[in-house]
Amino acid sequence: MIIVLKQNPDQAQYEHLQNWLKEMKLDVHISEGQHSTILGLVGDTSTVDIDMISAMDIVENVKRIQEPYKAANRKFHPLDTQIDVEGAKIGAGAFAMIAGPCSVETEEQIVGIAKSVKEAGATMLRGGAFKPRTSPYAFQGLGGDGIELLLLAKKETGLPIVTEIMDLSQLPLFDDVDVIQVGARNMQNFQLLKELGKIKKPILLKRGLANTIQEFLMSAEYIMAGGNEDIILCERGIRTFETATRNTLDISAVPVLKERTHLPIVIDPSHSTGYSRYVKSMCYASTAAGADGLIIEVHNDPAKAWCDGQQSITPDAFREINKGVQLIRKDILSLC
Ligand code: PEP
Ligand code: MN
Repeated sequence: MIIVLKQNPDQAQYEHLQNWLKEMKLDVHISEGQHSTILGLVGDTSTVDIDMISAMDIVENVKRIQEPYKAANRKFHPLDTQIDVEGAKIGAGAFAMIAGPCSVETEEQIVGIAKSVKEAGATMLRGGAFKPRTSPYAFQGLGGDGIELLLLAKKETGLPIVTEIMDLSQLPLFDDVDVIQVGARNMQNFQLLKELGKIKKPILLKRGLANTIQEFLMSAEYIMAGGNEDIILCERGIRTFETATRNTLDISAVPVLKERTHLPIVIDPSHSTGYSRYVKSMCYASTAAGADGLIIEVHNDPAKAWCDGQQSITPDAFREINKGVQLIRKDILSLC
């Protein structure tokens, strides 16, 4: 971090700033020029409040050289992280195909879909038991009963399960869940993130509807700072002025995140586009961009789905997409 001071800074304030920085165990390198004084901070500046320094009367400008996230930062962990979810690996060369309905509806529905997607190449099963719906009158999910049905589908197929938590009070129900999803709307629920940092279970963290990549990584950092380092990042589209798709899929988030973090990244082509007919091309594009996996909404009868039917593909379409994805992966590996 670099702090540029105004000309002729008040000496008392200058000393106060220097002492404060030293108390934070930072080395301060001072360069006094004719017109300005520059302080170069060396050490862990992740806890330094940049706004607080900017607000000081003697400060002209502050610039962060190093990112405020540490555990998630590739600089400190150059190798890709691989997460092993009950044998289904993701990251560092392993690709995850996570498929399943938006929401768990009935035993017949979730077990049936689980069997079809497994047979078509899925490595994990998704399904919402607690649903964050825009309308309070829409189907809110089966709650704890939905988790029980997911566990039944896991027993039948062996597929690890991914399902969303909406509130801390639901955590005891997630004991047997393999991956806990934090939805886009909860990406900055810091209390929830902190609690998920205390458990030992992979977390699939979705990017918020209007959050920057840095904010996304800071949310991952919240969980990791508590000791839980198994985070799968999920780009699921962001809000833009465009209305032709439900959200705008930020595929460039994949190479940007790859540069900044060692954590695996999956793409959700379903919530990002909002239409089943765009899912295939976005799966292929995401794979080509270097994603470590996909999370796709698949329903045996999309027209009758209780939630997000318009963006759900059939198990047959999923099988075809999986074949294409594997071909693209082979091509990419041969290019590397
Ligand atoms: C979901 O995955 O079912 C979901 C609600 O996603 P998001 O949080 O990305 O909207
Ligand atoms: Mn959905």
